[in-house]
Amino acid sequence: MLFNCIMCGSSKSKIIKDNLRDSNQHKVVKCSSCGQVQIYPRPSIIEDKKYYDKDSQAIDTFKSIDMNSIKERSTIESRRRLAAFQNKLKRTDDMLEVGCGYGFFIKYMEMHGYSIQGIEISDIRREYGTTNLGCKIFNVNLINEDLPKSFYEKYDVIFLLHVLEHISEPEEFLKKIRKMLKKDGLLIIEVPNFDDHMLNISETYYDFYFQRAHITYFNKESLEKLLKTSGWLIYEFKGIQRYDLYNALNWIIKGKPELENRKLDTLEWVEDFYRERLVTELSCDTLIAYCK
Ligand SMILES: [Zn+2]
Repeated sequence: MLFNCIMCGSSKSKIIKDNLRDSNQHKVVKCSSCGQVQIYPRPSIIEDKKYYDKDSQAIDTFKSIDMNSIKERSTIESRRRLAAFQNKLKRTDDMLEVGCGYGFFIKYMEMHGYSIQGIEISDIRREYGTTNLGCKIFNVNLINEDLPKSFYEKYDVIFLLHVLEHISEPEEFLKKIRKMLKKDGLLIIEVPNFDDHMLNISETYYDFYFQRAHITYFNKESLEKLLKTSGWLIYEFKGIQRYDLYNALNWIIKGKPELENRKLDTLEWVEDFYRERLVTELSCDTLIAYCK
């Protein structure tokens, strides 16, 4: 299969890594024309559908699916997100989370009085959210299916939280999403940041970073470019640091993560300094874009 850049269509690329943490069938390449980093060969929509139906990302990462720990981590993320997004949301808004996974964010938002639905292609995750959490989750593949008319201009707010990096045709996908949004609606995007400082600091982190589920690796510039070509206007851009200094130190010293978010209690000012600095320089782990 010939290389075809996900962003600019160029056929020229340079290999920057021979394998992924969970696949020897894929390489990491950088487009020689626009510089976008992506995996190659790019998984097809059908391959991705199969991949997510089996919940392969979770199984490959955690070896087995421990719903309690997934739920625990999701709750921490949901709490952070609601706090960050709250001043842009109204209780009367109709909201949608595209790629909602098991539905933990939807459930969390409902518990806080918001009206929110989801879209999820993974059968196993959608069924969990519908059956166990009572969420309203639709089975729509925005890349290869026509959008049902009932979705046109339906929502005030759409969330894309760590989803865009998984999408094999991001421009097409973002254009479809626009159709679902009401006039003056808001799109909130969160993606991992490829300018993450840890990629320069820890070799083991670099090896761990590239994974089969993540097709595209964005930084501020490439995310802005994609949004612009897809017809979106970014009116606010922010970096956030989700993982703490303790996690960074573990990667450097032990070559593995520490996801428990254990605070360096006595050195709280160091932690604050660390996060503030990374966010200012946009070398933090996560990017957020608010778009219209
Ligand atoms: Zn390119």
